[in-house]
Amino acid sequence: MLFLYYLPEKMDRGSKIVIIGAGMGGLACALALAKEGFTNIDVYETASNLGFVGAGIQLAPNMARILDRLGCWADIEKDAVDLLETSIRQGDSDKELAHVDLVYIRETYKYPHMVGHRSSLAGSMYEGCKKEKAIRFHFSTAAQEVESFGPKPAIKVKPRQGEPYTVEADVILASDGIKSVVRTKILEEIKHDAKIVDTNQAAYRIMLKREEMENDPELLELIEGNKVTRWIGEKRHIIAYPVSSKTIYNLSTVQPDKNFAEAPSATYTTKGSKSVMLDTFSDFCPKVQRMLNLVPDGEVCEWKLRVHSPLPTWIHGSVALVGDACHPTLPHLAQGAAQAIEDAAVLAAVLSRCPSNDAESINKSLRVYEKVRKERAETLVELAAASGRALHLGEGEAKAERDKMFAALKEKQGAVPDKWADADVQKKIYGFDCYQVAPRLEFCKNMIDVQYMSYVEQRSGPRNKYLYLFSLFPPIHPLREEPTRVMDALSIPHAFVLGTSQGGWITVRMALLAPSRIAGIIPLGTSMDFESERTRALGCWDGIEACTGPINDWTSTSQTPDFELKESYCDFLIDIGFGKDCSKDVREFWRKTIKSNYRGDDGRRRARMAAINLRERDGLHGRLFDVKCPVLWLHGTADVVYSVENAKEEIELFVNAESKELITVDGGAHFLSASHPTEVDKTLIEFVGKWKGRSY
Ligand SMILES: Cc1cc2nc3c(=O)[nH]c(=O)nc-3n(C[C@H](O)[C@H](O)[C@H](O)COP(=O)(O)OP(=O)(O)OC[C@H]3O[C@@H](n4cnc5c(N)ncnc54)[C@H](O)[C@@H]3O)c2cc1C
Repeated sequence: MLFLYYLPEKMDRGSKIVIIGAGMGGLACALALAKEGFTNIDVYETASNLGFVGAGIQLAPNMARILDRLGCWADIEKDAVDLLETSIRQGDSDKELAHVDLVYIRETYKYPHMVGHRSSLAGSMYEGCKKEKAIRFHFSTAAQEVESFGPKPAIKVKPRQGEPYTVEADVILASDGIKSVVRTKILEEIKHDAKIVDTNQAAYRIMLKREEMENDPELLELIEGNKVTRWIGEKRHIIAYPVSSKTIYNLSTVQPDKNFAEAPSATYTTKGSKSVMLDTFSDFCPKVQRMLNLVPDGEVCEWKLRVHSPLPTWIHGSVALVGDACHPTLPHLAQGAAQAIEDAAVLAAVLSRCPSNDAESINKSLRVYEKVRKERAETLVELAAASGRALHLGEGEAKAERDKMFAALKEKQGAVPDKWADADVQKKIYGFDCYQVAPRLEFCKNMIDVQYMSYVEQRSGPRNKYLYLFSLFPPIHPLREEPTRVMDALSIPHAFVLGTSQGGWITVRMALLAPSRIAGIIPLGTSMDFESERTRALGCWDGIEACTGPINDWTSTSQTPDFELKESYCDFLIDIGFGKDCSKDVREFWRKTIKSNYRGDDGRRRARMAAINLRERDGLHGRLFDVKCPVLWLHGTADVVYSVENAKEEIELFVNAESKELITVDGGAHFLSASHPTEVDKTLIEFVGKWKGRSY
């Protein structure tokens, strides 16, 4: 098996990028792209300024990690409040149902979980943007419609005081929120019927000043704490925490959406009635009542909570949706803005690695963005909804069960029904570093799988990450010529080559045949020798014996249209490649795949030729002296075909390579990229990163 990683040109940094909406997603997109060196970014925003509703926002570690890289976390952190604990309480009695320690978060995820003011988050990103010459803001200018999705996408925008005009770009990023006009247009284009879904829930956003609370010892304790408190009741809850250096106490409620139902044409945020608010929470404890009573009449802000049925895609041509435009969520995991910011980071990572600003390359990169983000964002939307259902239970068996789970937490056992506070959910959300994942996928996009003499159909295998990734891109058909011809056929001037098993041996042949085109080689689980007495003495398999029986079986002078590989032979390959203890799924998938690859007379001939090539391969020892490029050899300690001992001897024979390194992977099988994809990916990316600028 052989992979080529080709070195793409870079997308022109002057490519025009249009961003619709200067909300959390839009600001983060503009800043992240400018930080990647893009110089031509226009942001169109309907409102005349940032205009954020006065409210708090949770700043989770996955958000903080990105903001830090964008250079604005230090500013936000200054007046944000560090969360050290959370208390989940019964709304009516104020009885504590569960207490969860959050101190571990900073240590585990390298960033704290903080809470802050929305204006601080948006303001810091905006200040960051203003420092970048590349970014131009056009406030009071709404995107009216998409005129083209490509090859040069275009939108019509309308300044509040002026005539509409068309803006053409290379990429359009639509971070235009839950009411996205771009999403509507994409759905129309692809003829998909999906709609905004009314959750029948609404939220009050309340901010109390410290001086209003400090004369009440119980309330003072709340604003003084580093704590999120959640009071829960049937169909309702309140979440509260201090923000702005504990000068403000933020409360956010969720309750049935009565007011909007009565006024369906109302906007998503509206002034609510204080008496209705008090009535909604009239059975909550006195402490809560006292806080709600502090809200001045006329300052009750109510926010309608809406989501959207899942979208089939976030991408159309050179246009991508971002943030609430594609994954609006209920607020119960406090991840809406964080996910919009992750979108931005991933978009910047993939576009900065996009090889050119032609529409096809941009679309491919946007598809990588979708690949990294869509499943994750949609999973969190689902989790938030599930958490809401658990929090809002009324009296009955389900609630009793939930409260038992809360009680078990006192003994530090089990999952937290409030998923926001559950360590496993936190791991899923905070432990994900999109800066690592996105480049890896974008990197893999530049890899081409070349099946030398044996074309394997590309499709997703249960554990075979590479094949999964390649299912996105058309495979290369077998070339019976020298492998460097693949590079000619694809007009690839330079490449890194990775090969497993005999593929590792081929990487060396490529480095010898085309030294000015091969930037580096990465042999995996291989041998540079012929099938020799020497390798067998060092613990390698007996390749001659393993291949001779099958070669004889497959030798025929007549046509064999009904030829099919025996299952025992497929199992032999699977055992030596993936390990005898591989999962049932892997075994089943590969049995089927191998059989279907080697069917009929042509299949028999190819199987026979592959086995002969293996058995009768010549040794390269004398020629390793001539390899000049860097060599990174990865070898699993559980490889039953070629031994680590052999690899240790042979790596030393690359005496003139610019660098040579053997890395052994504990427990790694012969097909190392399948058994240990994370280790292989990481080392590979570092190697390519280190040597990609090398001169030949
Ligand atoms: C009650 C509540 C609590 C929340 N708490 C949290 C929390 O603690 N943590 C968290 O991470 N998230 C939280 N969220 C979610 C978060 O606020 C949103 O997910 C986030 O703001 C989405 O950002 P966005 O940029 O996608 O959309 P928005 O912030 O909605 O921004 C869209 C922008 O696009 C502009 N726009 C719209 N249409 C056009 C157009 N046609 N042309 C030009 N401009 C346009 C709008 O004016 C707006 O500025 C909460 C949400 C709610 C409702």
